[in-house]
Amino acid sequence: MDLLYKSTRSKDEKVSASRAILNGLAENGGLYLPESIPSLGVELEELPKMNYRDTAYAVMSKYLTDYSEEELRYCIDNAYDSKFDTEEIAPLVKVGDVYGIELFHGKTIAFKDMALSILPYLLTTAAKKNNIKNDIVILTATSGDTGKAALAGFADVPGTKIIVFYPKDGVSPIQEKQMVTQKGDNTFVVGIHGNFDQAQTGVKEMFGNEDLKKRMAAAGFQFSSANSINIGRLVPQVVYYVYAYGRMIKNGAIKAGDKINIVVPTGNFGNILAAYFAKNMGLPVNKLICASNENKVLFDFFTTGEYNRNREFILTSSPSMDILISSNLERLIYLSAGCDTDKNMKLMKELNSEGKYTITPEMKNNIKDFYGNYASEKETKETIHDIYEKEHYLSDPHSAVAYCVYEKYKKDTKDIRPTVVASTASPYKFTRNVMGAVDSKYDSLSDFELVDEMNRITGVKIPGAIEEIRNAPVVHKTVCDPDEMQSVVEGFLGL
Ligand SMILES: *Cc1c(COP(=O)(O)O)cnc(C)c1O
Repeated sequence: MDLLYKSTRSKDEKVSASRAILNGLAENGGLYLPESIPSLGVELEELPKMNYRDTAYAVMSKYLTDYSEEELRYCIDNAYDSKFDTEEIAPLVKVGDVYGIELFHGKTIAFKDMALSILPYLLTTAAKKNNIKNDIVILTATSGDTGKAALAGFADVPGTKIIVFYPKDGVSPIQEKQMVTQKGDNTFVVGIHGNFDQAQTGVKEMFGNEDLKKRMAAAGFQFSSANSINIGRLVPQVVYYVYAYGRMIKNGAIKAGDKINIVVPTGNFGNILAAYFAKNMGLPVNKLICASNENKVLFDFFTTGEYNRNREFILTSSPSMDILISSNLERLIYLSAGCDTDKNMKLMKELNSEGKYTITPEMKNNIKDFYGNYASEKETKETIHDIYEKEHYLSDPHSAVAYCVYEKYKKDTKDIRPTVVASTASPYKFTRNVMGAVDSKYDSLSDFELVDEMNRITGVKIPGAIEEIRNAPVVHKTVCDPDEMQSVVEGFLGL
């Protein structure tokens, strides 16, 4: 029997995994969830013997049941190969008294690569399985890292086009350069005069626009989403938590069956939701520690039960977490409401109209697995500095938010069980802020001088992703206002 996917906003819609991946978003703007979370089906003692690809197959085959073994292995083998700069794919490193699972060894040196290197394969396989003849147009809003990872994944993939919108002044210089130098005839990159939430809203509106959908179909196109709401992103992200657990058994940090904590620097709530899935599959996990930057909507939510986006949007040194509407939280809301679509819809409507909602005490009780806290800009900077001084390890600002929140968690709870921090970006992607935190004497250097200096002080090899943009020409120059996004897309597609 195939595992079907239901929507957080409709009682009737049920689709196969490949359909859910193709559709991206469910009807009414709902998000897909598996009808039940499958169990791991692997003895914990086996995990340390499994490499990344074996672990990926064990986990993903439980979710994507309408893919044949051959199809799924093809997707996995093509995704997790020498594009990654280490055989381990996601190496586990000891940083002080915690373990960091480094999710930034892929093509674009951020954790988005973990899912976006496989999504194009999952999607094109799904198109074949469902007899889709249209070209798939991937439409994506990015707070910095998704855009480049999606561009790298989809560039020159036959039968696809990819259009990325990013906040013109809301990403790091290296992030922007990575995107605007992207090669591939099927790639389009647009800066908007606005923030990430506006980019995301513009994209969601286009997805929901029936007239646009019709005109696209007439021209032989259909939209799909590479954003973290696509279950084709969520499912591959479950893998590395299971993998990390196996590595911890292997290095003696835990025995099979011991519970660990997981700390995740969070923005759109996709990465930590994957950890929640891993826990519900049977991975022994105690707390899921949700780390926010100064845009601390989620900290407030886990503390009070009220989600309130009515606040100033703060640009921080961890731009990929500068988000006030965490899209994937809807999945947790729905689950915590006992899979009640009406309850979920009511809250999402309130979010839309009032910018806030409050969950019931019962729902709050259902999400006790989560602990939320946040790191200020000053604390993040100090954390980068202190880890470097003590461990000679450079953390990027996103991961530093997580390391900082973990210290707060320990202070709050006295819980010192073995813990994994999701380390989400290479420090080379955020050289200015990272080197500035090490020593203010670096502030006068140019972006690429900083890269060389980082290499000198750490001895960590400069990633290919950085070398390749040093002298690359800018090929994407379009900039628009948020209300012009649709006409820009129509222009690209010749509608
Ligand atoms: C996207 C991103 C995050 C946030 O992940 P979510 O799944 O959106 O919560 C954290 N760190 C980095 C480096 C990212 O690119």
